[in-house]
Amino acid sequence: MFMTDDRVLYFDNHATTCVDPRVMEAMLPYFTAEYANPGSVNHPFGRHVAEQVAVAQGEIAKSLGGIADEIVFTSGATESNNLALFGTCLHPRQQRRRVVSLTTEHRAILDPLIRLERLGFEVIRVPVEQSTSERAGLVDLERLAGHIDESVALVSIMLANNEIGVIQDLASIAKLCRQHGCWFHSDATQGVGKVPIAVDDLDVDLLSFSAHKFYGPKGIGGLYVRNRERRIRLDQQMIGGGHQQNRRSGTLNVPGIIGMAKALELSVGDMPSEAVTIMKMRDRFWDRLHSAIPDLVLNGPPLNAVDMRLHDNLNCQFPGVEGQSLMLRTPSLACSSGSACTSANPEPSHVLKGIGCNDDQARSSLRFGFGRFNTIDEVDEGAEMLIEAYASLS
Ligand code: PMP
Repeated sequence: MFMTDDRVLYFDNHATTCVDPRVMEAMLPYFTAEYANPGSVNHPFGRHVAEQVAVAQGEIAKSLGGIADEIVFTSGATESNNLALFGTCLHPRQQRRRVVSLTTEHRAILDPLIRLERLGFEVIRVPVEQSTSERAGLVDLERLAGHIDESVALVSIMLANNEIGVIQDLASIAKLCRQHGCWFHSDATQGVGKVPIAVDDLDVDLLSFSAHKFYGPKGIGGLYVRNRERRIRLDQQMIGGGHQQNRRSGTLNVPGIIGMAKALELSVGDMPSEAVTIMKMRDRFWDRLHSAIPDLVLNGPPLNAVDMRLHDNLNCQFPGVEGQSLMLRTPSLACSSGSACTSANPEPSHVLKGIGCNDDQARSSLRFGFGRFNTIDEVDEGAEMLIEAYASLS
C-alpha cells in the first residue's frame, strides 16, 4: 500500500495540485463555525454565509475580468463543460445545429460532443497543426474559419491543452465567432491561475475552470457565463431548487467556494514570479534529460515559445521505451503517460495522435507538470532517476 509519508517527486500538477495550506486555512471555518446553508436567507446565520459566498464570487469574477453574477459554481470543469455545451446547444430557443471543436480537446468536451451528435447535432472536430510544425497543437485559424458560419451554435476550444500545454489564440478565434453570431466557450481548466485571463480581452462567452488545478480543493469549479453586452441563454442541466438563478441547482459547496476564491487570489497574485520559477525548473529538467538522452523528442511547441506553451508543461518521447515501463521503474516519481483522466484507457493519447505521433511515439511519451511545491533538488533527483531507468530499459 502507498504510504503518505513515502517521499514522492510529484511532477503531475496537470492532473491535480496539492491544496495550498493558506487555502486550507481559509476553508476550515466553513466546515464548522460557519456551516449554515447560504440559501437560508431567513436567518442571520445563513445570510452571513451567503454574504461570504457573494464576496468570493465577486473576487473570482474579478480575477477573470468579469462580474460576480457571471460566475456559476459547479463541481469542477467536467460539469462546467457539460453545462456549457448542453446548456447552450439544448436551450429551447437554440435554432442552430452545428458545433465546432478540436480533435485534441479533453474528454470532458469530446464525450459530451458525442452525445450532442446522437441528439442530431453536426459536430466538427477540427485537426490541429502537426508535430513537424513549431506550432504543433495549435489550430490553424483559416482552417477553423472554413467551418464557422451561421449554422454554428457554439465553438468550444480549450485555452491550454492538458497534455502538451499548447495555448490557443482565443482572441482571434472569438473574432470568427463574432462574425457569425455563435457562442464561444473555452475549457480553460489548465490555464486559470497559471496564465493571465481577461474574459473581455479574450472575448469568450463561457469559460470553464476547476479549483484543484490551482492549489484549491477538488470538487469545486465554475463556469463563467457572459451576462453583459451579450446574454447567454443557458438551459440548466442540474435541476431542483433553482439555485444560482436557475443555472445550476444544488446547495452551494461553501468551503469549496471560499477555498477556490483564496486559491485564485494567491495564484493570480504570485503569477509572474511563480511562472518564472516553475519554468526554470521545467527547463532544467528538460536540459538534464536531453543532455543524457540526446534522442529525446519534445512533443508540442518549443519550450521557449512562451505565448504558445504553458510554462509548467513538458511532454516528451523516450524513443524505444514505453512510458509505462519507465514509470514502473521510477515508482517514487509521479508523472503521467497520456493524461490522468484517461489513464484507465490503454489506448495511446488522442492528443499525441492528434499532432501526428504514431502509436509507438505516443506510447513512449511521458507528461510532466511542475508546480508551486516542487524544488530544484527534486527536479535534479527526478531527472537522474529517469536517466537511469531509461538506460536500464533501452
Ligand atoms: N478539462 C481539462 C483541460 C482538464 O485538464 C481537466 C482535468 N483533467 C478537466 C477538464 C476536468 O476537470 P475536473 O477534474 O475538475 O472535472
